[in-house]
This record gives sequence, C-alpha cells and structure tokens, in this order.
Amino acid sequence: MIQDIENGMINCVVVKDLSRLGRDYIGIGYFTEQYFPQKNIQFIAVNDNIDTENESIQQEFIPFKALLNDFYAKDISKKIKASFYTKRQNGQFIGAFAPYGYQKDNNNKNHLVIEPDTSNVVQNIFMWYLQGENMTSIAQKLNDCGVPSPAVYKMMHTYYQNTNVKYGLWTQQTIKNILSNETYAGNITQGKTKKINYKNKKLKKIPKQYWIVKQNTHKPIIDYTVFQYVQTMLNQKSQKTNQKSMHLLGGLLYCGDCGSSMTFRRNKKGDFILLCSRYTRYGQCSRHQFYEHKCNDIIFNALQTFIKNTPNFKQYHNTIPIDRLFCYKIFIIQMIQKIQFFEQHNTIKMCVYWNFSAP
Ligand SMILES: [Zn+2]
Repeated sequence: MIQDIENGMINCVVVKDLSRLGRDYIGIGYFTEQYFPQKNIQFIAVNDNIDTENESIQQEFIPFKALLNDFYAKDISKKIKASFYTKRQNGQFIGAFAPYGYQKDNNNKNHLVIEPDTSNVVQNIFMWYLQGENMTSIAQKLNDCGVPSPAVYKMMHTYYQNTNVKYGLWTQQTIKNILSNETYAGNITQGKTKKINYKNKKLKKIPKQYWIVKQNTHKPIIDYTVFQYVQTMLNQKSQKTNQKSMHLLGGLLYCGDCGSSMTFRRNKKGDFILLCSRYTRYGQCSRHQFYEHKCNDIIFNALQTFIKNTPNFKQYHNTIPIDRLFCYKIFIIQMIQKIQFFEQHNTIKMCVYWNFSAP
C-alpha cells in the first residue's frame, strides 16, 4: 500500500476500524498525523467514525483509540506468553514445526514422535561423528548422497517457506546444531530465545541457565549417555578452534564471483591463504586462492589513502551519516577494533593504527 501511495496511485485509505491500520499507537500517530496529511491522503475508519476530510467529526480522539488498541495487543501478548510458559513447564512442545527427525503426534500436537526417515539421518550423523569424521565431511557426504537438508525438508513437507535458505545444502553448522540438540536425547529444551517485545518480532538469545529443560518428554533418537559423550567431544573441539580460527580480516572479505565469505586456511608453510567458502564447504564456485599478505597490502593501502584524503579522520568517522557509507563505516570500525585486538595480543604488529589516530 505504501508503495502505491508513493507512486501517487492512492488518495484515500478506508479501514473497518483503527486497529486494522495497526495496534502500535506510535505507528498510527505517524500515519494519521504526519504521513497521510503530507501525502494528501484521506483516511476513513468506518466503525470508529473517523474521516480526516470531514471537519464536523472530531479527530482528537484518534490517539486515545490507538492507545487503547495498543493496550489490547499488549494484554493479549501477555496472556499468550503465560499459556506458552505453562505448556513449556509441563514439557509440552509448542514450536510451530517439529525438529528434524521428529514429527508432531497426530493425536496431540504438543507431543513429538519419531519420523522414521529423518531420524535415521540423525542417527547416522551421530554415528559418523563418533567414528571420528569431522562435521564438514559429514555435511559433504549428505550433500553428495542428495539427502535434503533440514531446511529443505521442512519446506518440502510443511507450509514453511524461507527465501533466506541460501543453497539448501547441509553445512558444518547444520551438523553442529543437530549434534548439540538435546531433543534427540528425549529431553525438550525450550525458551532459548524470546521476542524483544510484543511490537518487535526480533528474537534475542536467552542464557543457557534459563532454558526450560524437561526430561523424558518423548522417545529419544540418541541414547542420553552417547549424547553426553558427543557434547564433551564438541566442547574440546570448540576450545581448540577458538584459538586457531581468529583472523584479522575474518568475516570481512567476500568472493567476487559468488558473494560467499572468504575463509582463511593455513597452508603447509603456516601462511594464511584465502579460499572461497562456497568452494571449501560445497565444492562449488572455484578455489580462488589468494595470499593473506597480498590482501593485507591492498586493504591497508586503500585505507591509508582514504585516511590521508580525509582531513581529521577521527572526527569524520563519527559523523558519517547512517544512510550513507554505512557499510564502509562498519567496515572501518571493525578494522580498528580488530587491529586493537591483535595489537593487544601481540600476534601482529602493524603501523596502521597510528595512522588512524594521526590528525
Ligand atoms: Zn566463490
């Protein structure tokens, strides 16, 4: 609708009542008091007796009505939350979709039962990992056999659609999520995330000690002792990789051909090389091998030129408007933070930071 208003195709908006326009009183206020008048749009809410073109009708009550609608939404949200909380405490599954390997019980949608095909895949993943295969090669093996990844499987069998599913393939992360999901040991873990509030659907992570864990709520796919053993294996591995994988430019460089992030590997000499992550994970795109020191030279030269051509850089980087150069600003801030981090840890010595602070 907004797009049509912007294109000048609409001059009047009619709704049944104000709550149809939205329940957020700040948003409603913006539309009725600023946006519609600015765009010369007539606004009519039939049941609430609102018509912005009719001067005989008092418009002053719009904000109060909007506020009441907002209270109503908040109250409903609280009640739903309370009912979810009780269900979780009783060990009932309340997710929209059963986790990969399970399906919802036809007789009770809050109970999980084993799904034969996908649970076999889960068992294989645990078995291969216990036999010493790493997560990347397990993912590759499943991709080679043409097994649909959990996201693809979900889209094939439910109404769930997600355009963000990049290539629909198994990744190291998918395997890790499965290996560390306690649901497979017969215990339901819920309440891992929560919405910021009833107006904002963004989720924030909840610390592990506040998760709601209920044991033996459904039939396990993996024996609990096996699951526990796999957790110790995973913890040992993550401690090792945390020390190794940190790189100055990690997460900042992308493949020019396919847009995937570049990963850093050490070659036999111990030097870092960059490779396209789509190649390393899925064997697609191409290797695009590039030496770290060459890449550093290019970036630091570009940054130094930028700083040189920007008088009083320090002030400047605080004033770049958010809509312009936003990515660039984030990039530079990340660079500064990373350089500071590496200098503190004495693993890399570069003079670039001095240039940032020079006038
Ligand atoms: Zn690529």
